[in-house]
Amino acid sequence: MTSATKTRVVVAGGGTAGWLSAFSLVTRLGNLLDITLVESEQIGTVGVGEATIPTMRNFHQLMGIDEREFMSATQATFKLGIEFENWGQKNESYIHSFGEIGQRAWMAEFHAFWMAARDSGLNDSLDDYCLELKAAKAGKFALAAGKKPVNYAFHLDATAYAAWLRKKAEAAGVKRVEGKINNIVVDEQSGNIRSLELDNGECVQGDVFIDCTGFRGLLIGDALGVEYEDWSHYLAADSAIAVQTESPEPPRPYTRAIAHDAGWQWRIPLQTRTGNGIVYSSRFLSDEDAEKTLLANLTGKPLTEPRRIKFKTGRRVKTWHKNCVAIGLSSGFLEPLESTSIHLVTTALIRLMKLFPFSDNFGILAERFNQESAVELETIRDFIILHYHQTARDDSPFWDHYRTMDIPDSLRHRMTIFAENGYVWPDDVSLFRVDSWIQVMMGQGLQPKQYHHAGKMLPPEGLKQQLAALKQQIENQVAQLPPHEQFIQKYCPAGKVG
Ligand SMILES: Cc1cc2nc3c(=O)[nH]c(=O)nc-3n(C[C@H](O)[C@H](O)[C@H](O)COP(=O)(O)OP(=O)(O)OC[C@H]3O[C@@H](n4cnc5c(N)ncnc54)[C@H](O)[C@@H]3O)c2cc1C
Repeated sequence: MTSATKTRVVVAGGGTAGWLSAFSLVTRLGNLLDITLVESEQIGTVGVGEATIPTMRNFHQLMGIDEREFMSATQATFKLGIEFENWGQKNESYIHSFGEIGQRAWMAEFHAFWMAARDSGLNDSLDDYCLELKAAKAGKFALAAGKKPVNYAFHLDATAYAAWLRKKAEAAGVKRVEGKINNIVVDEQSGNIRSLELDNGECVQGDVFIDCTGFRGLLIGDALGVEYEDWSHYLAADSAIAVQTESPEPPRPYTRAIAHDAGWQWRIPLQTRTGNGIVYSSRFLSDEDAEKTLLANLTGKPLTEPRRIKFKTGRRVKTWHKNCVAIGLSSGFLEPLESTSIHLVTTALIRLMKLFPFSDNFGILAERFNQESAVELETIRDFIILHYHQTARDDSPFWDHYRTMDIPDSLRHRMTIFAENGYVWPDDVSLFRVDSWIQVMMGQGLQPKQYHHAGKMLPPEGLKQQLAALKQQIENQVAQLPPHEQFIQKYCPAGKVG
């Protein structure tokens, strides 16, 4: 690699991770790179991954993506959060929304003021102070409520998203090669990957390789021998079954995560269909029983055959090794409960673009990349474990396992401070803000014994009046929003924009 020649980037794999990689690299560094993507139609993609989080909007903005065109091409709907049903307790539910709850002060979070008001007789729910949460429940949506921007993400068709990105990437100069990777040639001296040999005899050479081969991890794992760290002692799920159905109702602006006696089920509403699936651990549920549970809990007519997917929760001990960067499922997978995988693809891409190896001597860049990636995944892991562990459910071996298991010290510390003092802080990578931690901890039944007394500095009646005004303001804002489906039909109807 020299500055006079273009760096040859080879992306192995053409799922969401592969095409997002090729598209973003060509969009932002295209003049400096020569990008080839190799994929195999015969192997296909994992075909799931349809719920996202708001960070996707920032990424799309960085890449110059037109939101309306993207949503129309992927049958996308808006997502204001996730409703968790039967998690903390059977027949109870709560929403982890993307919104801020109330107004925070620098010294204390809003829930401390709300708890002070409750001690003086206030009867409202904390949910009443979150615009996005109330809009989700009411089935309403707009990009802004008056002057207040709404914080949202998307539900999208994963296959259509990869196809749309492919079209854009190829138009911008990415070369696509169809073929099955049969052999990966590694330079004996440097340990770097030199080329990919395909079943059709073609050989694709490169300087930098991006492994987007999904769970197979052909380059990072098979060729370079980077180990996979197993996290199944924390997150036991190792299986999923996915099925698409007709939508029996207008799309709700949120994902549903419905817990069963063993495992949980997702419902992701798109414009023209619903994505459904069950996530479970083979230790607690057989594939046959999981499929029965899923099919018994569908609300629309199935459009596809149920598809089984096996996985191992965990991560590569290094996601960048030698001249290979693993992005997507090849780099690790937790599970889809908080829809964080595509987010992790986008943060890895931003990190890669910032640390891009323009010279041969890039070991230190890889080190930095790996450190940042490790912290990010551990934070998300803790947040996901919280949903399983903080539960009162004792009605099955599955819930008994999660309720009583050992959890990471980092999570125990966070839960203990909250339980004792009501104190919350954002995580190290600022993905889950205090509002997320509060909504999930309290939603799962972790109620703080004590709270910051900043609210008691105010006269009780004055505090209650302020909260009543805030609640009323949110009610008024939600009342003005159009129904979610109506907004979609105007803004981004499937197949009609762009
Ligand atoms: C059950 C489940 C639910 C999920 N839900 C969500 C969600 O709601 N939100 C979210 O953000 N994420 C979710 N994810 C994760 C999400 O699906 C992935 O992060 C995303 O699809 C990226 O996958 P990928 O591109 O890494 O892998 P894949 O889609 O598997 O793509 C791998 C690519 O590599 C190619 N390939 C493999 N081997 C070869 C070979 N030998 N030669 C040539 N090509 C090859 C394949 O053909 C394919 O193109 C979910 C995952 C699972 C398992």
